[in-house]
Amino acid sequence: MDDMKKKFAIGVDLGGTNIVCAIVNYDGKIVSSLKTPTLAERGKEATIKRIIEAIHKNIAQSAIAPANIMGIGIGAPGPLDVKRGIINFAPNLPGWRDVPLKKILEDEFNIKVILENDANAAAWGEKCFGAGQGINNLVCFTLGTGIGGGIIIDNKVYHGNNYGAAELGHMTVNKDGPKCNCGNNGCLEAYSSAIGIKNRIRDRIKKGVKSQFLNLDNIESIESISLKSIFEAARQGDKLTSTIVEEAISYLGIAIANITNILNPEMVILVGGITNEGDKLLNPIREEVKKRAFYTNYKFLKIVIGELGDNAGVLGAAALAWVPVS
Ligand SMILES: [Zn+2]
Repeated sequence: MDDMKKKFAIGVDLGGTNIVCAIVNYDGKIVSSLKTPTLAERGKEATIKRIIEAIHKNIAQSAIAPANIMGIGIGAPGPLDVKRGIINFAPNLPGWRDVPLKKILEDEFNIKVILENDANAAAWGEKCFGAGQGINNLVCFTLGTGIGGGIIIDNKVYHGNNYGAAELGHMTVNKDGPKCNCGNNGCLEAYSSAIGIKNRIRDRIKKGVKSQFLNLDNIESIESISLKSIFEAARQGDKLTSTIVEEAISYLGIAIANITNILNPEMVILVGGITNEGDKLLNPIREEVKKRAFYTNYKFLKIVIGELGDNAGVLGAAALAWVPVS
């Protein structure tokens, strides 16, 4: 064990836009990291090459002897097969079908490689090094462009029958709700993700609703407007954004109440850009959950914001190289 504490692990966060690679020590400190564009549009082979190069470069710049690196953990978009280390399909990595990434990287680096869903990796990061330290049962919502989730039960990532568990963004919260990217209607993601919020604002602009605070004369300018300014406009009573933001928060509260009544976790951790709102987000969510969940389930539940920010995924991926999750 003492020997382990002197060693390092590599975490890789494979996203549609960037590959983030970090060498992490046993205490969860990043000792060396780098970020490089995924360039997913250049195809699967090119991206795999970029991952390999990023890891080699990261090891070289850290000056850590390869013998002191325990393994590589990859957080990747799914669906994927954790046990076999295969990415079955990834909507934002065109051309990726049944890619045996674990084997490819093990052949290249000759060390243990663990593949995990990116949201599960973020949950595991918060569990090992962030807000969830010492918590055995928790649920983590990753609130970004879309919404993902990770469920930890009895200190293990819960994967479900074939690694499809914890798709928290795709729980139906309104049967007649807006269309989601997954094809369903009324998913949480269609209401409470950055894409969902912006799509709903766009729909309203098309219907002629004007914002009193945001410059949205050109409908596509919504893409460049930050969630922060959208939330701020809503708080000022902006006609265009206020109900959309209220519903985004309220449906998130409903989703948390649902999962609270199903799993009775000790903690719900929220990570992602929207959590910059802090208590302005947490307070109305807590109200919603309190209103809907069983009192006995709500009473001891902690709803908190993650502590690792954007690093949750890469830290969790690295932690997987120490603690194999099944
Ligand atoms: Zn969906």
